[in-house]
Amino acid sequence: MSDVAMETGDIDYQSAVMSLWDNSVNRKYYVTGGVGSGETSEGFGPDYSLRHNAYCESCSSCGEIFFQHKLNLAYRDAKYADLYEETLYNALLGSVDLEGKNFYYQNPLDTYRPRYDWHVCPCCVGNIPRVLLMLPTWMYVKDTDSIYINLFVGSTVTIEDVAGTDVELVQKTDYPWSGKVAITVNPVVAKRFNVRIRVPDRDVSELYTATPNSDGITSIAVNGAEVTPTIEKGYATITRQWRAGDKIEMVLPMKVQRVKGSDKIEATSGRVALRRGPLVYNVEQVDQDITEVLDPGAVLTPQWKADLLGGVTVLEGEWADGSPLVAIPNYARANREPSSSDRRGRGPRSARSIVWMKDR
Ligand SMILES: [Zn+2]
Repeated sequence: MSDVAMETGDIDYQSAVMSLWDNSVNRKYYVTGGVGSGETSEGFGPDYSLRHNAYCESCSSCGEIFFQHKLNLAYRDAKYADLYEETLYNALLGSVDLEGKNFYYQNPLDTYRPRYDWHVCPCCVGNIPRVLLMLPTWMYVKDTDSIYINLFVGSTVTIEDVAGTDVELVQKTDYPWSGKVAITVNPVVAKRFNVRIRVPDRDVSELYTATPNSDGITSIAVNGAEVTPTIEKGYATITRQWRAGDKIEMVLPMKVQRVKGSDKIEATSGRVALRRGPLVYNVEQVDQDITEVLDPGAVLTPQWKADLLGGVTVLEGEWADGSPLVAIPNYARANREPSSSDRRGRGPRSARSIVWMKDR
């Protein structure tokens, strides 16, 4: 539907697509960017029914990314890229293990099952890699005189035919661990065009409120000189004669955020989730008692751990009872347990890993 709406500009299709978008994002959307609570089918449940043992099939995360990307192309509004970044880094990347060999078909927030190496219905096994392999598509969009930078990923990509020249873009960053991003713009021929950089808004869905605020861009400079770009539809727009070697340097805020669900969501009542940058965090039983309470005033400190889970920034703090708390990125969950004896999911059905922890 979003393809047809975009390709034809048909107003009835556009209207129907926006109704579905509003309902799914503002009524039926998980904090991980996953969709599909699965009460009745491999699909959506009632409004605000967002139980933690969701179906959230990995394919629905792929579909969610395709949908938001198509709307980003149609309306050139950064909020759709904000949403698919969330789905990509959390729900989708969390479907595969760190080996890249096993995957979740059902991809709930509270996990007690191990991942599958194969599934009798092998849809996700193709969809997950095709979405990951399409990363350049999710990163950049162009039109005749603009490049849109939607994702911040260390890379070198050539974008063809912008204002009559090919443009190589070199991103240097270790985002999402740090908020520093450097982008070198290398047009083959010096030309005037717009570089439109997504200004992150981490609170697009009405369902969730995060504190402290961590939206926006802290600072942005071109060739060492600070600039204050105009913001259009969520993009910081820099228009100039670009020459090979021109360098944009920026800093994105990376505060540790506490996320609360709307009062209308029963499952998140009295619970809190943690987020830093685009990454939603998870606490695992292998590290601590996950039935503990997180005090609303507890200090949480990001800490880089090179030797844990392939290198991750964890959040460290204390539970209300004084015992140590460690939260890992949701995508890295369920990689240390269970043992091989219950790899087929026959283990105990209590959660070993949760997103929403108790906060009184
Ligand atoms: Zn599937």
